[in-house]
Amino acid sequence: MHKLTGSHLIDGQWRQERSSRTFDAIDPSTGATLPPVFFSAVGTEANSAAEAAKRAFDLSLDLPPKWSADLLDKIAANILDLGNALLERVEKETALPRARVTGERGRTVNQLKMFAGIAREGSWGDATIDTADPNRQPLPKPDLRRMLRARGPIAVFGASNFPLAFGVCGGDTASALAAGNSIVAKGHPSHPGTNELFASAVLDALQTLNLPIGLFNLVQGPGNEVGAALVNHPFIEAVGFTGSLRGGRALFDLAAKRDRPIPVFAEMGSVNPILLLRGALSENSATIANGLAQSILGGAGQFCTKPGVIFVPSSQVDDLSQAIVKALAAASELVMLNYGLRDNFCERCSHLSEIPGVKTIVKSNPTGHASISPGLYETDTEHFLSQLALREEAFGPAALLVKYENEADALRCIDAIGGSLTASLHIGKTDNPTIQKRALAHLESIAGRVIVNGFPTGVEVNDAVVHGGPYPATTDSNSTSVGSAAIRRFVRMVAFQNVPDELLPPALQNANPLQISRTINGQRTKANAE
Ligand code: NAP
Repeated sequence: MHKLTGSHLIDGQWRQERSSRTFDAIDPSTGATLPPVFFSAVGTEANSAAEAAKRAFDLSLDLPPKWSADLLDKIAANILDLGNALLERVEKETALPRARVTGERGRTVNQLKMFAGIAREGSWGDATIDTADPNRQPLPKPDLRRMLRARGPIAVFGASNFPLAFGVCGGDTASALAAGNSIVAKGHPSHPGTNELFASAVLDALQTLNLPIGLFNLVQGPGNEVGAALVNHPFIEAVGFTGSLRGGRALFDLAAKRDRPIPVFAEMGSVNPILLLRGALSENSATIANGLAQSILGGAGQFCTKPGVIFVPSSQVDDLSQAIVKALAAASELVMLNYGLRDNFCERCSHLSEIPGVKTIVKSNPTGHASISPGLYETDTEHFLSQLALREEAFGPAALLVKYENEADALRCIDAIGGSLTASLHIGKTDNPTIQKRALAHLESIAGRVIVNGFPTGVEVNDAVVHGGPYPATTDSNSTSVGSAAIRRFVRMVAFQNVPDELLPPALQNANPLQISRTINGQRTKANAE
């Protein structure tokens, strides 16, 4: 079993600069410092990690194509082998209950296995072949073969709110490795021991499979320095990020200002609007109120899909808010993931209550260490449109009810939100079908996932899911950070023209050695390409 060192994993070695600053892991439910002391990475460590990832990526080009499938399966098995040591460390560093931590570990392991399966099966690269026609007039047609190829070293920023499933071995790392990239992970400083345990699981997998040891590296530390150094490093080819709008946007801007800009796939803040139509509320008020409260409280409101803004017909807002308040009051103690998130949330709620036109229905208050009570606020469409701050995420257990007189006003507000991971619509039997259709179209225009008569929290990991959306939800509206399509971020299209068969990637060779489905001259087939 790995004993925590507080160091970074660089090229297979646990390392730290002697002069480094240090930081501590803190138990958010007691405020206690958790040993060991962790070293903050500096720029030189970011450089070494990026160089190791580049060397390993270059070496991996000579490996059999399915190396990443074996690696991902072995990482998944090793994570399970970490057993209670991992679960206990996550619990201490995050205050998440054991059931949630165990469930999230299951999701993380399944995600790794899903991407192992995708890498092993091999058709994710979308191999497409247009064969030559030397007799075409007026010019001969060349042989062209296109597929998706790995980009190279990827910088992955683990999230605070899903320490496992969006952590350093989460969906970004799994999807990037599956496509054949190498990784420099920047661990979230709020759970450094968890990050180090994950890195130990990857190190063992690389050693056991005799793979290039720098395929995965971990650097840790707060204060922006190491993250910025990574994004600026010339060997880094793309960035995966989950966190705040401010952080994601800063990294996106850094990447754009590089001599050679690179893509940043950042999943950031989201207000996840819910539009309740009149019929839906008349028919199902109790179910809707309870569902909303549970969705607001889930994970102490620290889900990126938490409903933040709820549009309610003004004649029904009082009954709904009373029912939600009752359900919120039944919540047990809500401990947030760290003091920083708790303080940000309190500040945001205080600001909310001071905005003109906002009524505080229930005030969110700190209740001890990193704990918080839930909050509920109310405004109208006019103020929602005029006050930009009402469209910002409050990351924690709070929501804003926006009362509307007519649906057109609510839809104008939804348009003003601009981008969100999800958007939900509640419809009843008596709601006008034309309004339903129009509402759905507006919600679709701003969101990556549209939900009818349901709640946005709870994200399936499968082929059809989209966890993305227009800016500010993400920096690339054509991407998802959850599900099998997440692999499409860390790749680029390459076309090979008149390249001899033996020099082509196996997925494009005539004999179809991977036995995958390909598109050949417009037909989907597993046949040879001769
Ligand atoms: P964060 O501040 O964005 O940090 C996430 C990661 O990015 C950390 O590793 C951080 O490293 C790095 N980072 C942030 N800004 C950077 C910069 N300018 N340069 C280099 N690295 C940078 O997110 P957080 O700590 O998880 O939470 C802060 C706030 O973000 C929350 O209060 C909440 O409002 C929001 N949030 C939203 C979501 C969501 O899914 N919607 C999830 C989590 C958080 P450093 O420690 O070095 O800064």
